[in-house]
Amino acid sequence: MLPMVALVGRPNVGKSTLFNALTRSRDALVANQPGVTRDRQFGICRLLDNPFLVVDTGGLSDDPEGLAGLTSQQSMQAMQEAAVIAIVVDARDGVLSYDHQVVADARRCNRPMLLLVNKTDGLDADQAMADFSVLGVQPAFAVAASHQRGLGPVLEELAARLPEPEPGEALDQTEPDRMRLAIVGRPNVGKSTLVNRLLGEERVIASDVPGTTRDAIAVDLERDGHKYRLIDTAGIRRRARVEEAVEKFSVLKTLQAIESAQVVVMLLDAREGVTDQDSTVLGQVLESGRGLVVCLNKWDGLDEYQREQCRNDVSRKLAFVEYAQVLTLSAKHGSGIRELFRAVHKTFESATRQFSTSELTRAIEAAYEALQPPVVRGHVAKLRYAHPGGTNPPTVVIHGTRVASLPQSYKRYLENFLRRRFKLVGTPLRLEFRAGA
Ligand code: GDP
Ligand code: GDP
Repeated sequence: MLPMVALVGRPNVGKSTLFNALTRSRDALVANQPGVTRDRQFGICRLLDNPFLVVDTGGLSDDPEGLAGLTSQQSMQAMQEAAVIAIVVDARDGVLSYDHQVVADARRCNRPMLLLVNKTDGLDADQAMADFSVLGVQPAFAVAASHQRGLGPVLEELAARLPEPEPGEALDQTEPDRMRLAIVGRPNVGKSTLVNRLLGEERVIASDVPGTTRDAIAVDLERDGHKYRLIDTAGIRRRARVEEAVEKFSVLKTLQAIESAQVVVMLLDAREGVTDQDSTVLGQVLESGRGLVVCLNKWDGLDEYQREQCRNDVSRKLAFVEYAQVLTLSAKHGSGIRELFRAVHKTFESATRQFSTSELTRAIEAAYEALQPPVVRGHVAKLRYAHPGGTNPPTVVIHGTRVASLPQSYKRYLENFLRRRFKLVGTPLRLEFRAGA
């Protein structure tokens, strides 16, 4: 489970600016994909070796602009679930009584705190820090979120404070052949129907995973000789009869589930097409680098015209995850299940594919030979060799000269070339470029 950092503070101090700075996509390629939308409250910061969750509590109240929302039930709960509370204040406004109130609320949660004195750009930072020392929150940092300044020391502090990620049950590495599969989607798309169908089939042997916390409910199952761990789906929770009056922070749980999975099955309701919320979740799957299979569920209820509509919607809105297979499914009637498992396995194989340095280098040479990068200021970038940089997602490190000048279009060309050559299905492919031999 990822630890969480809660950003709290009165409106307009810069929480959401900070949130964006911390959760911005690791590569521009992802951020600029048309169709990717982001959740404004919950995100994952990947700027440290170990990722962590960030929640902007400003977005949690019903009345985001009003001060009444400061200590809303949800903000308090977010603070209680956080590993660290980051209190944000505005250096330009100085200390206001609301800041004292925020600190008092945060203290009640008994969590490590730090103070971020924001908007110190163009100000005497030392003076600002001295002013805010009356709040009595240590350590304190001078930052300028909108200029992405001062965040380095904050991240260092967080790295020291946040608990080491413990491989929880869902992340159990003791059975490497057990595939970790998350089934995600909006409420009512049919997750529990699918899970119940999977668990109900004769050839399936299922057992609840002991020791799972309320955050990570998992169930193990075997099917056709393959072992799976299904992670954190509303479906599993319901089957386990864990009553949850309100599905609080479902975005958070979805993020956790995606992060602990190797392959994500994303269910959409074919009758509704692709909603903004679906795109947000898919954007998270893309950034996580996990394998992805998209299922258009409730396919049974549609006529030909509606099916066509749905397919069009998908091809228009899901171009940013075009590497994923898109299947049609009826969880209710059981059609498409066999194809789903086939797709999941293909995806898993691609996502965990191990490359050798020589096959990658040959591939890069072939790609370069087929198409050279454009001339930039009289020079052409050269690609020398490539080696593997990890799996899930498969990562290829490419060495060469002037690689910094490679245009996005050429990087995309390389990616597609490698994807085709190695028949990768359902997984993003990450390319990293290094200059020099
Ligand atoms: P929130 O209500 O706490 O989420 O605050 P926002 O992130 O929406 O920021 C409120 C305003 O402060 C916006 O106009 C931001 O552009 C501005 N702002 C945020 N961070 C900084 C900063 O570091 N320096 C300056 N000068 N302005 C900032
Ligand atoms: P969840 O909230 O994602 O777990 O969704 P549920 O599994 O509870 O399903 C929500 C509703 O959709 C229920 O009434 C299901 O019977 C229905 N449903 C689920 N799968 C299908 C399907 O494949 N076809 C049709 N027609 N209805 C379905």
